Amino acid sequence: MILLWLECDANGVTEISLETVAFARSLSAAGGGIVIRAALFGDVPEAARDQLAAHGVDEVHHVTGSAYDAYSGAAWASALQDIRERTTCVVVAAAGSPRGNEVIAHLAARLDVPMAANVLSFSGLAPFEVTRQVAGGSALEDMRLPRRPALFTVAGHSWTATPADQRTTPVWHEESPAVAEADLIARVSARGEAKEDSSGALTSSRVVVGAGRGAGGPNGFGGVMELAEMLDGALGVSRVVTSLGWRPHHEQIGQTGSRISPELYIPCGISGAIQHWAGCSSSKTILAINTDAEAPMVTKAHYAVIGDMHEVVPAIVAELKRRAV
Ligand SMILES: Cc1cc2nc3c(=O)[nH]c(=O)nc-3n(C[C@H](O)[C@H](O)[C@H](O)COP(=O)(O)OP(=O)(O)OC[C@H]3O[C@@H](n4cnc5c(N)ncnc54)[C@H](O)[C@@H]3O)c2cc1C
Repeated sequence: MILLWLECDANGVTEISLETVAFARSLSAAGGGIVIRAALFGDVPEAARDQLAAHGVDEVHHVTGSAYDAYSGAAWASALQDIRERTTCVVVAAAGSPRGNEVIAHLAARLDVPMAANVLSFSGLAPFEVTRQVAGGSALEDMRLPRRPALFTVAGHSWTATPADQRTTPVWHEESPAVAEADLIARVSARGEAKEDSSGALTSSRVVVGAGRGAGGPNGFGGVMELAEMLDGALGVSRVVTSLGWRPHHEQIGQTGSRISPELYIPCGISGAIQHWAGCSSSKTILAINTDAEAPMVTKAHYAVIGDMHEVVPAIVAELKRRAV
């Protein structure tokens, strides 16, 4: 059996969690129809019920109770351990989100088995063999997970969140496993809206518009923000931008920022230093906008426009507006 930890937002199960379900369906088929169980914590939007059925989940463990109201990597891993022991699942996986990687890492430490983060594909079941992204997607690594359970996370946007060929009628289990006080030491105590939330969806957006030193200063982001909004995307920036205090750190892409893998990344005025590339190289398509035709970002990009971002970006915005009329 396969156990998945699925994350929800206000609209239901998140897209990268549904991508993880698609991965699990492929694994299930390769294993001759292995049962897929999902664990969800806390409030679950009504839409999630239909999504789980449409995406082929067989059984759902809905974990609630005061210990699980707020996110806690250790406590949630403890509950997953409890479920996995009762169900004897041989695989436990989650989306390769920051929390997905954290929870599965906690579980790996508890069970003393290795985990593979940011897996792209599997090539064998016994022993379980996967290919995963390392160094922010700039390299791939084949990894063997001979011990049970096999623990891993699935790299964002490496699978498509398509529904299953056949709907299921998931069996719901309402439960509240006991959790040790020690596992509740680190937990979310308060939540608030970020003052500027333009990059809240940086790691899950299908489009990311990036801006670097070429923005020229803290007031140079109007165009890229407008473009990001028009494309229903998020704004991401280079470290120079955050180090200079032009934009907040949570918008940074790279080795010491977020790793992104959108369908389209549009880096504007970003040179493409290796530390930035480590965070964006998994983007499906890169369209660089830069004044320097020799910049590493330009030479690595699929497409490039050589020009001043303060002229090129407004021109793209104007053209999108013209076509939208
Ligand atoms: C340990 C370590 C970790 C790091 N982690 C990260 C990280 O996580 N993320 C990260 O981004 N960096 C990181 N860095 C920094 C990295 O090495 C680079 O310094 C940084 O990415 C450069 O940012 P940039 O491309 O915006 O600036 P620059 O390298 O200065 O490049 C600016 C680019 O903008 C172009 N340009 C200038 N004006 C315009 C214009 N008007 N229109 C269009 N193009 C223009 C230039 O041609 C140039 O290519 C790290 C460095 C270290 C040492």
